[in-house]
Parts: sequence; structure tokens; C-alpha cells
Amino acid sequence: MRKSKFVKLKLRHASFISRALLSTRHPVLAHLIPMRRCNLACGYCNEYDHTSSPVPLDVIKRRLNKLADLGTSIVTISGGEPMMHPELDDIIHHIRQRGMIAGLISNGYYFTPERIKRLNKAGLEHLQISIDNVEPDAVSRKSLRVLDKKLRYLSEYADFHVNINSVIGGGIKNPEDALSVARRAVELKFSTTVGVIHDNDGTLKPLSTKEKDVFQQVKKLGNKDHARLNWFQDSIAEGKPYQWRCRAGARYLYICEDGLVHWCSQQRGYPGIPLDDYTMADFDREYNSEKWCAPTCTLQCVHQVGILDNWRDPQQAPGLTKPESSLKDTIHEVLRAE
Ligand code: SF4
Ligand code: SF4
Repeated sequence: MRKSKFVKLKLRHASFISRALLSTRHPVLAHLIPMRRCNLACGYCNEYDHTSSPVPLDVIKRRLNKLADLGTSIVTISGGEPMMHPELDDIIHHIRQRGMIAGLISNGYYFTPERIKRLNKAGLEHLQISIDNVEPDAVSRKSLRVLDKKLRYLSEYADFHVNINSVIGGGIKNPEDALSVARRAVELKFSTTVGVIHDNDGTLKPLSTKEKDVFQQVKKLGNKDHARLNWFQDSIAEGKPYQWRCRAGARYLYICEDGLVHWCSQQRGYPGIPLDDYTMADFDREYNSEKWCAPTCTLQCVHQVGILDNWRDPQQAPGLTKPESSLKDTIHEVLRAE
């Protein structure tokens, strides 16, 4: 990524963080699904099919316009595999035209020099690729051996921020693969994070001793970037619940291919209201509602959004709550990672 673009992106981050700290009444991050279809079939995944068609561009633009009107800061395109959408560049361009930060989550299979240059031109700002193992196996083919060439292309041509996420848990055979992935990411000058993943029934499994050891080593490699915000994972890795305020349905939105708002990929159906009809009354209800799934939640991006408001506005529902942190603590935590 060019230095001048990097500095501009940092300034844009600083601006959305200040805006989010000053006002709670807009979404910070939305994940938008332009197509459920994927070229892979990872054993732990419940977010893909092999048959669905791309959502038409005009429908996606309407959804993006609604997100912009709600004041959304960041839109990340996810899937399925969003690189299979034939009009992905136009989608990214529209996000930027509406003044929002444009992100993409991909399995990495479709990156070529030509494709990366087109994404530069469209205005992509963030890319995340999750790599599950070194050699492909029955659970996952998102493998370093297969994707290394794509990573080298990205290192050479991408004019956007690239984060490589490695994973622990969920049936991944060799936990030490996460360390190889993180080391390669650092070598190529990408940022790196590590995620604890679910089994395909969506439940959390405590990490084994070996997995915990690798997890701590990988976290150290990524300690200068977003991984710093993920201390909730220490509790999850120990199999202990973590108390926090999930603001899904408000500060974080998950918009499926049918245009419905859901709390997140793992809680589809709640509230299940069309984005076109989503109002600030819906936003306020979800902002103030405690989520029953929060203590064992492993979704890094929703946790990170939650940090912005963890110090204020207790949610309505019985249950344990984390001791209050202060605005000063929050600003410190967010700035340290950004
Ligand atoms: S590549 Fe991503 S969306 Fe596709 S099956 Fe694997 S985890 Fe699911
Ligand atoms: S706590 Fe986690 S799983 Fe539950 S709604 Fe929030 S993000 Fe989704």
C-alpha cells in the first residue's frame, strides 16, 4: 500500500472512531453479502452454498444507499466468496462514492495481478483473507501452500491494507500451521490476526494445551495491529465466558443476500427485518438489548465494534455484566490498535 494512501486511511479511521465515540446513533460496521455462493466448502462453515446467483447490482446499490443514509462508517463485502460476484468492482466503487470505508473478506483464490489492479482502481481499502492450514485437508482448502502465490501478488500489487487471519480450533488438524501462516504474513508485510473458530454447529470448543500455546505465539506476532483489540479471546481460549455488550443490530449490521438485517452470521433470523424498512427504532431496540450468545461469542469484528460503547449504556436483560470501563480506557484501547 502506498504511504500516502496509508496515511489517508489512518486519518479516515481516526475520523470514524471520533464520530463513533461522540454519537451512538449510527452503524459503525456493516457486513453485506452480495452472493452466498462459494467455490470452496470448508468443514466448519455454515455461510455458503454452491448454487445461488449474484444479487443484481441495482439492488446492492439500493442497500448501500440505505446504509449510507443510516450513517454507516465501514462496509465490508463478505459471502460466500464475494470475488465470484461479476460486479464486485462497481459495488466497491459505490461504497466509496457514498463516503464509506470499503472492505472485503475473501478466501483469496481469485487474486491475479490484473484482478488486484482492478480492485485498486475501484477503491478497495481493506482486505482480509483467512488461511486455515499449510496443506489442504478434508476440513479446509484455504491453505498457505495453495495461496502463497496469491499472497505474493498482493504484496506486489495491492494498494490496500491486507490482513491475514489464521485460525485455531474447529477441527483444524495442525495448530502450529497458524504460526506458519502468521510468520508468512509478517514476512510479506501484511498485518496478521488469529481467530478462534466454531465447529459447524456454531458452538465454541475450548482449546487444547497445544492450541493455546500456538495461539499465544501467533498473538505476539500480530501485537502491533488489530489483534490488540481481541483480548476477549484469552477467556474464550480457556473455555471461559467473556462479559461484554454486543451491539449487533445497531452498531454492527449483517445484511444477507435477501436484504434482511441480522445480528450477525451466526445469529441469522434476529431481527430478520428488511434493511429497506429498518428504522432508528429498530436500531435503538437492538443497541439496548443484551444478546444471550455474547459470553461465548468469537466474532472479532463485532467485539471490536462493541469496545466503542462498552463503557456506556448498559443493556436491558438480566445477566452478568462486565465492570464499567471508562471513556478514557476506551479511547486508549482503540487508539493503541489503530
Ligand atoms: S471459503 Fe469462506 S465462505 Fe467459502 S466455505 Fe470456506 S469459510 Fe465458508
Ligand atoms: S454476541 Fe456474537 S454471536 Fe451473538 S449476536 Fe453478537 S456477534 Fe452475534
